[in-house]
Amino acid sequence: MIATEEYRIVDIVEEVKNVRTYRVAPILEKPVKFIPGQFVMLHLLKEDGKTFGDARAYSISSSPIRDSSIDLTIKVYGNFTQKLWKVGRESPVGVRGPYGKFCFIDSEVKEAVFIAGGVGIAPIMGMIQYCFDKKLDVNMILLYSNKKADEIIFYDRLNKLAEQNGKFKVHYTVTQPDENIRWDGDSGRFDEQKISRYVGDVKEKSFFICGSPEMTQDIVSILQKLGADPGKIKREQW
Ligand SMILES: Cc1cc2nc3c(=O)[nH]c(=O)nc-3n(C[C@H](O)[C@H](O)[C@H](O)COP(=O)(O)OP(=O)(O)OC[C@H]3O[C@@H](n4cnc5c(N)ncnc54)[C@H](O)[C@@H]3O)c2cc1C
Repeated sequence: MIATEEYRIVDIVEEVKNVRTYRVAPILEKPVKFIPGQFVMLHLLKEDGKTFGDARAYSISSSPIRDSSIDLTIKVYGNFTQKLWKVGRESPVGVRGPYGKFCFIDSEVKEAVFIAGGVGIAPIMGMIQYCFDKKLDVNMILLYSNKKADEIIFYDRLNKLAEQNGKFKVHYTVTQPDENIRWDGDSGRFDEQKISRYVGDVKEKSFFICGSPEMTQDIVSILQKLGADPGKIKREQW
């Protein structure tokens, strides 16, 4: 069984409203060895301040090519995340893992298409950053859907990466545009037409999809209709 290790919150970044990135580092400098896309179980401490309590799964949104810290990009919802929102910098937390088969494996991928909805960008950000850090010779397309334009997580960072390297293209869509927030880009879901336009021929491409169960299922159905290889479609949903 994988043990829960003691970590410390070393940084907290407000990404967009209700979404934060928690940077956590192991106290014993024993880094978690993970493949881009995997997740860990994050434990809060019980009231005694010593033993590990409740836990939830969080994808690692950073690249493994870094120091021993990892980033977890989290949207606040219910009990657990509301408790986490009250935990400050320097506080201890528990981390157990890594887990999961939603993995970016260099030798399997020549052309990558990432499709994310909302906070589903978390594991995909880790994969994209990894490709950049390792200077992999991979063409990358990101299709990123959000309800509103001001909910797009990592917007500036993704745009900078796309400017830096022509092998990475990013396309956003907003499904519930708000007239008070300026948005000149696409609106509506990623349907068959948008996917064909941005992805082109799907045959040789590897797909990584992360979002709600409904969104991931819809996208998988479209990709299958377009002729994507089912063996090259990986998905994570929560
Ligand atoms: C493999 C995996 C990876 C994950 N990675 C991430 C990640 O990177 N970032 C992240 O923010 N979350 C991620 N999650 C979800 C996370 O584990 C928690 O479920 C989430 O943070 C909600 O926890 P909570 O305690 O706040 O809500 P809970 O107390 O567990 O639930 C409170 C209420 O909110 C509802 N609820 C919970 N989640 C949702 C939702 N997504 N949409 C609508 N209602 C919801 C529940 O039905 C419940 O009624 C991941 C889950 C899995 C399984």
